[in-house]
Amino acid sequence: MENTLTQEQLVCSFCKIEIEKDVVYCPNCGHPENGTDKERAQFFAKRAMQKNKNIDAGQKIKSARNTLFVLSSLVIVFGFVMYSSSGSTIELAMNFFVAFIYLALAFWSEKKPFIALLVGLLLYITLIAVSAIIEPLSLVKGFIWKIIIISYLGKGLYSANELRKTTTGDTVQ
Ligand SMILES: [Zn+2]
Repeated sequence: MENTLTQEQLVCSFCKIEIEKDVVYCPNCGHPENGTDKERAQFFAKRAMQKNKNIDAGQKIKSARNTLFVLSSLVIVFGFVMYSSSGSTIELAMNFFVAFIYLALAFWSEKKPFIALLVGLLLYITLIAVSAIIEPLSLVKGFIWKIIIISYLGKGLYSANELRKTTTGDTVQ
C-alpha cells in the first residue's frame, strides 16, 4: 500500500511541480514544502499580498487604457471642431490618424501594457510639445487635464512595469 505512494514522483503541494523528496523550498513557487508552519504561514501571507498588489496594478493599467480610449475620442471631437472653423481636410485626416493610433494602443495594452502605454505616453507628450512649438499658448490650454492624463498614463505604465517584474520570475522572494 505504501509502495504506490513512494513510487510516485513527489510534487509540490502548492504548484504541483515535481520536486526532490528532501527539498525545503519548492524551486518553482517557493512553497516551504518541508518547512515549518510559520514559514508556510509567511508564504501564504506573502502570496496574498502579492495578489492584492497585482489586482491594484491591473486596475491602474485599466485606467490608463481607458485614458487612451478617451484620448482617441477627444482627438476626433477636437478634429471636427477644428474642421468646422478651418475647413482643412488635411488637419482632419491627421486628427483621425492620431485617434487611430491611440485606439490601437488602447487595444494593444491588453497584450503588452508596458510597451503600449509607454508609446501612448510618449506620443501624448510629443504632441503637446509639437503644438507648443507651433502655438506656445496651447501649452496652457487645459493644463490640468494634461497633467491628469499624463498621471493616469504614468501610473499605468509604472504598474505595468511592476507587473512585468513580478511575472518574469522573482515571485519567490
Ligand atoms: Zn511549488
